[in-house]
Amino acid sequence: MHLNEQTITQLAPLLQARKLSSVELTRSVLERIRALEPRVRAYLSVMETQALHMAEEADRRFKRGENVTPLTGIPVALKDNLCTQGWPTTCASKILQNFVPPYDATVVARLKDAGAVFVGKTNLDEFAMGSSTENSAFQVTANPWDLERVPGGSSGGSAAAVAADECIAALGSDTGGSIRQPAGFCGVVGLKPTYGRVSRYGLVAFASSLDQIGPFGKTVADCALVMNCIAGRDPADSTSASVAVPDYASALRADVKGLRIGVPKEYFVEGLSREVETAVRGAVARLAELGAEAVEISLPHTPYAVATYYLCAPAEASSNLARYDGVHYGYRAADQDNIIDMYTRTRHDGFGTEVKRRIMLGTYALSAGYYDAYYLKALKVRTLIKRDFEQAFELCDVIATPTSPTPAFRAGEKTGDPIQMYLSDIFTISANLAGIPAISLPCGFAQNGGHPLPIGLQLIAPVFREDTLFRVAHTYEQATDFHKKKPTL
Ligand code: GLN
Repeated sequence: MHLNEQTITQLAPLLQARKLSSVELTRSVLERIRALEPRVRAYLSVMETQALHMAEEADRRFKRGENVTPLTGIPVALKDNLCTQGWPTTCASKILQNFVPPYDATVVARLKDAGAVFVGKTNLDEFAMGSSTENSAFQVTANPWDLERVPGGSSGGSAAAVAADECIAALGSDTGGSIRQPAGFCGVVGLKPTYGRVSRYGLVAFASSLDQIGPFGKTVADCALVMNCIAGRDPADSTSASVAVPDYASALRADVKGLRIGVPKEYFVEGLSREVETAVRGAVARLAELGAEAVEISLPHTPYAVATYYLCAPAEASSNLARYDGVHYGYRAADQDNIIDMYTRTRHDGFGTEVKRRIMLGTYALSAGYYDAYYLKALKVRTLIKRDFEQAFELCDVIATPTSPTPAFRAGEKTGDPIQMYLSDIFTISANLAGIPAISLPCGFAQNGGHPLPIGLQLIAPVFREDTLFRVAHTYEQATDFHKKKPTL
């Protein structure tokens, strides 16, 4: 196996025993990037020189035997909405094309402290609004399993980079499914942590009450190792929780005996592809064979989740995106007559269609006269959705669902129909509305000529029970080999 194809769990001991250098490993990743990027287009920028410097620094740590962590020397990719000091952070938007942050996001700083190597910034839907990366102002990322198909979104670049072995692990952000849906489409593992588990400081805000940063990995164990590094209270983010972080690596027991797996009946409905349903039901059956108990549960407010999310998220976005006025950051339109004209033209030219649609929807939902009917109503339904989960978790320890209703769709298939695009998030957005953690991992393949398409299994747990997710996901992964298959590129 090539170095760039391996996992953190495999590489860390080799690096620590100095049987392998981080420079060697980083070179193999950079070579892979050079070979595949013309076709995959996962990265908006590659940090070649910086990556090699960071790798040399990691090798010095190994030599001195100081400050060595499981992530030391490991090449990772960062979604381009995470601030990196001195390195462009574009959010895949023209409005931030030339923005270079003066500081690092807390997660970026933590990875740096751990000795990780940054290889580049990955593509996304503009400001993380989308489910396919087609809303990027700069490029569309291809799904490594079938280059005609989307990698999912909004963290499509991070998912594709991990799936194509163009990095070892990556970070993404998830507001309504942006880590789990692309992880599912690309056949990798992706976790959205509990709201407040990981600091959002330095994550460019989309919808602040829903946004969370989380890991992509080739295995469940790799996601646990990244979480050990990034989770925990940060004084710079007042919504980050003062709740002790367990050692997630020790949650990786291959054992689900006695755990109750809830299967919500509202998630197996019309529109769900037959192959996805078969794979997910098969996964639940497998977990039952491994000692868990499957129980049917109900999440009655599920039919309202998409509408609720597409009121709450745009409302928050309209407020968060007010700061892009041509004065504080990035792009400013030329030839303006007066300040209003400058704002208007800057925002007209700088934002793409989907971002403008969200700003308008959100502004409308918050406006006097409509606030009660839309935004306030959506907040109330959000509470009902949260309660559904609280009640369900009295009957089960973890909930199993499909990550998405279908495998990866074709590029261009949904771009003309925003509602169809929004509906692809139907199974992921409830976890954000409820603030609870959820993971997606491979559980099968759909037939697609010579290019089988990965299918994602989503597991959802109560607040701060990422350890349960890791335990169930790891047990399932150890009993199957879907995660070992690689796309033919
Ligand atoms: N696809 C959803 C949206 O367009 C979720 C995006 C996300 O999680 N950032 O809003």
